[in-house]
Amino acid sequence: MKGVDWRVPLYSLTIDEEEIKAVSDVMRDRWITMGHQTEQFEAEFSQRLGLPLPSVAMNSCTAALHTAMHVLGIGPGDEVLVPSMTFVASAACIKMAGAKPVFVDSQSFHDFNMDPLDLEKKITSNTKGIVVVHYGGYSANMPIILEIARKHDLKVIEDVAHGPLVHTSLGMLGTLGDIGCFSFFSTKNMTTGEGGMLVSRDADLLAKAKLHRSHYMGTSSWSKHHGRSVSYNVTGVGMNYRMTDIGAAMGRIQLQKYDANQQAREQLVQRFRYRLRSLPQLILPYADIPEAASSHHIFPVLLPMDADRSEWIERLKEAGIQTSVHYPACHLFQYYMESEGTRKGDCPVAEAIAERELTLPLHPHLSFEQVDLVCDELERICAGERMLR
Ligand SMILES: *Cc1c(COP(=O)(O)O)cnc(C)c1O
Repeated sequence: MKGVDWRVPLYSLTIDEEEIKAVSDVMRDRWITMGHQTEQFEAEFSQRLGLPLPSVAMNSCTAALHTAMHVLGIGPGDEVLVPSMTFVASAACIKMAGAKPVFVDSQSFHDFNMDPLDLEKKITSNTKGIVVVHYGGYSANMPIILEIARKHDLKVIEDVAHGPLVHTSLGMLGTLGDIGCFSFFSTKNMTTGEGGMLVSRDADLLAKAKLHRSHYMGTSSWSKHHGRSVSYNVTGVGMNYRMTDIGAAMGRIQLQKYDANQQAREQLVQRFRYRLRSLPQLILPYADIPEAASSHHIFPVLLPMDADRSEWIERLKEAGIQTSVHYPACHLFQYYMESEGTRKGDCPVAEAIAERELTLPLHPHLSFEQVDLVCDELERICAGERMLR
């Protein structure tokens, strides 16, 4: 981010002296990967989610998703349902497992999450599971999705990269399906630089995930170091998806700071919504859904149907405001069109969202003045005529 001096950056790290000290302490202790810090982080993360068994720390959410496919026995010949409106990793993990991703449309312009009606329509005798994504940290329609999954005997993998620690009426996001996969990438609500977490209530799945994380070796270097064993056996083909203790130490501090950061996000979103309600040209997804709890990972808006988005982005950039797009429709990426035969028109709502969505800056360090700056500029753009295609 050095070099570009945004007046309003899209996101910001919440790292300060506490994390720096924790990381330095790990380096001074001279055990820098998957040791005490990782064990503690796994225990503390599960505790926060109200889960009885420790989570499995990984080096990314993508690693956790791939591991989830493996431990649930998803492979060649299987189909897995996944929203088109997501980051590509949600679908890529299905391909990594040798299975077929089947893309599900978004529900509406007010709720970008997967549409349960379209989901059920796309179930075949080969369907084995569903990757549910909680877009922006807003819960997908879990009561209905879980009912469909039960009815058709499908595994449910929650991609909770956007939404750690979100309480819903059914329980916390990530704990509602068979497996939950979290991300601690730098732009997410809590970070370890790179990192991820796999959670489950099933001890067998967790044990298998641990093997997949580390070469399917029966014994870790950590327990060897402590003299618990001298040899190991290999009972499968595993990866190296381990987290470092450096990252885990950072994650433990980030977890402690989570609630305060969350409150800040909440207030900023309220401010955005209050200001932007005077612009009927913009759709504010989830704003009118009562009790839509969220981690407020991002603040998405939908531009008018005839807007030229690149013009809006350019104009905001000129004002020093950084924006982004979440996401291009996944089923229209070249690779998926070629490998799955997906086409324009397969997921019309997601396609329209992909063309019109704009993500505004949101992070705990944002000030109300910066929110107002963004809203003032959007007001000026809406007042002008020249931003149409
Ligand atoms: C960021 C993200 C991922 C991937 O997380 P990594 O930790 O970077 O592998 C997966 N799914 C969604 C929805 C994401 O936003």
